[in-house]
Amino acid sequence: MTVARVNDTPPALEQISAWLESATRVVVLTGAGISTASGIPDFRGPQGLWTRDPEAEKLSDIRYYVSDPAIRRKAWQARRDSPVWQASPGAGHYALARLEQSGRLHTLVTQNIDGLHQLAGSADERVIEIHGTLRQVACLQCNYRVAMAVVLKRLADGEEDPDCPECGGILKSATISFGQSLVAKDLARAEQAAHDCDLLLAVGSTLSVFPVAGLVPLARKAGARVVIINAEPTAMDEFGDAVLMGDIELLLPQLIV
Ligand code: NAD
Repeated sequence: MTVARVNDTPPALEQISAWLESATRVVVLTGAGISTASGIPDFRGPQGLWTRDPEAEKLSDIRYYVSDPAIRRKAWQARRDSPVWQASPGAGHYALARLEQSGRLHTLVTQNIDGLHQLAGSADERVIEIHGTLRQVACLQCNYRVAMAVVLKRLADGEEDPDCPECGGILKSATISFGQSLVAKDLARAEQAAHDCDLLLAVGSTLSVFPVAGLVPLARKAGARVVIINAEPTAMDEFGDAVLMGDIELLLPQLIV
C-alpha cells in the first residue's frame, strides 16, 4: 500500500482514520473496484473487461444498442450470465454500511449497477445509483419498468431480444449507457451532497467518467477533505488530501472499524 499526498508530507493511515472519525457529513463515491473482490470484474482496471476486449465497450453504448439487434442479443446474454447474480457484498461494502450506522455518512454515490451496497445494509435513501441498476429493466420508448428476473425468464423461455410487452419498444437494463443522459435529479442530488460534505471518499474508480468524476473537484473547491483509494492512480489524484494505493477490501476495514 502506498499513501501519498500531493505537494505535501504523506499522512499516516491513522491520520486518515481520524479525519473520517471527526467528519460529520461524509460523501462516498464508489466505482467498480469495490466489487471486484465479490467476483464482478471492472472495465478499465488491468484485468478489466474493456482492457481485455475493447469490442465489449459497444455493449454499453446506446447508439450500437438501438441500431444493432446482434449487439442487443449479446447484451442480453451478458446480463443473463452476469456474475452479479452470484455475488455477495465484500469487506469494502460492509465497511461503508458501518460508516452509515455510525451516523457519519451523508450520501453514497455509486457508479456500480450491482446493488451490492444495499445488500450490505446501506439504506436505499442514502444510495444514489448514478449509472442505474442491473436489477431492473426499462423500455426505451415508454414508461414500462420491471424486475430483471421477469425478462431473464423470457430469455430462458427462448426469446433472444425481448421487446416491451406494452409498446413493442426496445428493452434494456435500467442502466445508463454511453450516449444516455444521467437522471437529472440524481445528478443534482449528488452535486449538492458533494458541495455540502466535509469529507469526500472516492473508492475503486478511475475517476475518468464525467460528470461523476467532477464531484471530486467540486467537493474540494467547496472546502471538503478528499481521500482517494484505488489500486492505481486516478484522473483526480491532484485533488486528494490523501491518495491510498492498495486493495480496498484490506484498506477500508482498517479505516472504518
Ligand atoms: P473502472 O473500471 O473505470 O475502474 C475501476 C478501478 O478500480 C480501476 O482503476 C482498478 O484498478 C481499481 N480496482 C479494481 N479492483 C480493486 C481493488 N480490489 N482494490 C482497489 N482498487 C481496485 O470503474 P469505474 O470508474 O467505476 O467505471 C466503470 C463504469 O462501468 C461505471 O460507470 C459502472 O457503471 C460500470 N461498471 C459497474 C460494475 C459493477 O456494478 N460492479 C462493474 C464494472 C463496470
